[in-house]
Amino acid sequence: MSIKSTIATATAGAARWGLRSVLHRSGGALPGKLGLAIDPELVTHLAGLLDASVVITGTNGKTTTTNLIADAVAASGANCVCNRAGNNMETGITGALLEANSERRRTAGTRRVGVFECDELYTVRILPRLKPTYFVLLNLFRDQLDRYGEIDHTQDVIAQALASSPATTLIFNADDPLCASIAARVPNPQLPFGIDGAVGTETSHIAESRFCGQCNGPLEYDYIQYGQLGAYHCPSCGWERPRLASFASDVRLSRTGYTFDVSMSRKGTHDVARLSTKYNGLYMVYNITAAWTAASALGVLDDAPSRFQNVLDTYVPTGGRMTRWHMGGREVATDLAKNPVGFDRQIQQIKTAQGRLMAFFLNDAEADGRDVSWIWDVDFERLSATPNIRAFVGGTRAHDLQVRLKYAGIDARIVGQVGEALASVAGEPATETLHVVANYTAFPPVVKELERMTEDGSATSGDTTAVHDAVTAVDGTAERVPASMAGAADEAAPSSVADAAGTPEAGASAPAALDRPLRIVHLYPDALNLYGDGGNAIVLARRCAWRGIPVQVDDVRMGDELDLSTADVVLIGGGADRDQLAVVNELRSQRDKLASYIEQDGVMLAICGSYQLLGRSYYMGDTRVEGLGVIGAETVRGEGRLTGNVAVASDLLPHNLVGFENHGGRTKLDADETPLGAAVVAGTGNNGDDGFEGCVHRNLIGTYLHGPALSKNPDLADWLLARALERRVHAGDAKAAALVPLAALDDAYEHAANEAAMKLLG
Ligand code: GLN
Repeated sequence: MSIKSTIATATAGAARWGLRSVLHRSGGALPGKLGLAIDPELVTHLAGLLDASVVITGTNGKTTTTNLIADAVAASGANCVCNRAGNNMETGITGALLEANSERRRTAGTRRVGVFECDELYTVRILPRLKPTYFVLLNLFRDQLDRYGEIDHTQDVIAQALASSPATTLIFNADDPLCASIAARVPNPQLPFGIDGAVGTETSHIAESRFCGQCNGPLEYDYIQYGQLGAYHCPSCGWERPRLASFASDVRLSRTGYTFDVSMSRKGTHDVARLSTKYNGLYMVYNITAAWTAASALGVLDDAPSRFQNVLDTYVPTGGRMTRWHMGGREVATDLAKNPVGFDRQIQQIKTAQGRLMAFFLNDAEADGRDVSWIWDVDFERLSATPNIRAFVGGTRAHDLQVRLKYAGIDARIVGQVGEALASVAGEPATETLHVVANYTAFPPVVKELERMTEDGSATSGDTTAVHDAVTAVDGTAERVPASMAGAADEAAPSSVADAAGTPEAGASAPAALDRPLRIVHLYPDALNLYGDGGNAIVLARRCAWRGIPVQVDDVRMGDELDLSTADVVLIGGGADRDQLAVVNELRSQRDKLASYIEQDGVMLAICGSYQLLGRSYYMGDTRVEGLGVIGAETVRGEGRLTGNVAVASDLLPHNLVGFENHGGRTKLDADETPLGAAVVAGTGNNGDDGFEGCVHRNLIGTYLHGPALSKNPDLADWLLARALERRVHAGDAKAAALVPLAALDDAYEHAANEAAMKLLG
């Protein structure tokens, strides 16, 4: 070691000793931070401590997979060096290495194996320094786009990281084309894993980017497990899911969880095992297959691959994830979900469990991602058929969740804490579980509150010892509601959304007839649906239904014939540069249809990426891409991205429009085009420069607002519907005349969410 790293190690060691012995606190990030400040190459110098190592990354499942591998390593008798506390940046990994270094004498002679969870963007710092034996790539979903930029960027970073450590074997999820296309770009030895055969137990409507990583053509799937995971091939260039070297097969779901075979062939050996997990999410099958593959490759299963079952049996998730609590006689199931795919899996599980009591918490802190539009990608509608739902929402973005649930047909009450939700369902049968899902920073307060209530319960009454354990409901004693909560019974059952909205279901006006239903055409939801833009279709459809206006939503997917002759509203969303390119190519031959629809006052809403491609041109990297030229606008690249909460004051509407922008392109309108409005905050909007946002071109609205745009801006939703009905009147549909002006709806939730969003801007 160099003098610098010796000093760094000593300083960090002293800090750790001080924190532990004097302040009685765990090391946390400080030792790693101090060490790196003195020697930025500390990881390189400490890497030699390890006999083997594995780094785990991916959007979902990092912590679980890391801990499973670490448990397997520890069970083998090896010395496991791991950042279990979950700090997955360079400081956390360095901290774990420093700790191992301080114990190197005690552990001398024992095999030392490093198991490190690593944030996607930090792989490029860690891999060139650590040069791990294995690198596990679990999946890539859209996550925190405000932090990561577009998913292409994350892919580039990981590919760069791998190229810097070419001897590292890449263990990757081959069912995920976004992971497989990284594998196709790097020189590393590879071990593709996946699930062999359609499991068919879970559904998902989430349209992740399903384009070929080689030629950008649309992928075809033999089957999809969920999200973009499945067996795919590209009909245009022949690229396909790599052959699985390690896979789960014969996957069966029972009341007690998943059971499946795992098998792996490599270097002339063939490992097989039958495994079962008490967790009933298919994502756990992927996590376990990845962990088993890595553990086998590391040689810690000692030629007994089924030994991994012991690891699964004793595995305790950290920090309240996948945990069942027994609170005052009721089971409370808590789990963390940070992004649309993860949250959607939780909703699927609530449905599987026929759950009726639920509380969702959503924060928008830096670590969560400021943009919460993704909740519109979560299929809450799946739950709307469940009778007598009792739903609660909380967190800094509770209002957004409340609106989201309203449009899924669920009336949710805002609560401050999980205890309030628990108290509110005190009158419900004790056999029913309260399902709690929260995102990143919203989750620890939920766990803390449940822990506090657990302690309170035992403090106030000897027999109210609330216990919690991981998932399997074992011997939790039946308890009463802790005294602290008993008084706070629910005041009133929530009214249904129908009531709240004064809808025909609530006995208002009878459905008004039209010559034919209002036809909403949603263009390319399979390509352009970045952060919940599909929610715009949900909002319009529900607002029609609540007024008794017959409505139909037609999705036009890539490759479908485009027929706008009977369209009343056309919706199109935002997307990454790559997805945008696929769509502009798709639309090029149909440009005239779209242009004449718009010139004949057809109503349309185009968000972000699609707003850009309606102009004359935009940029993909350094390449200028010809747009459709329907509106007079040019989009060029600028320094960095325009990302954050925004508001627009528009002459068209009484309230400010609120939403979230996240774009690299800067759009300049021609002098004869009209902006949608003025950006309320300087430096935001079309280009961050001229103070304008969006564009109104006849009945076409182009805007950068995600959110989705219509969710917190009911005025804009109704502006589109009113224009569509007026156009019908012009075309001779006399019945449409009776529907304008539009009947008022109760928009209290939407307006509260709009006001809350305005407050975020100060
Ligand atoms: N890809 C485009 C950009 O970054 C649009 C992104 C989006 O739709 N959010 O400029």
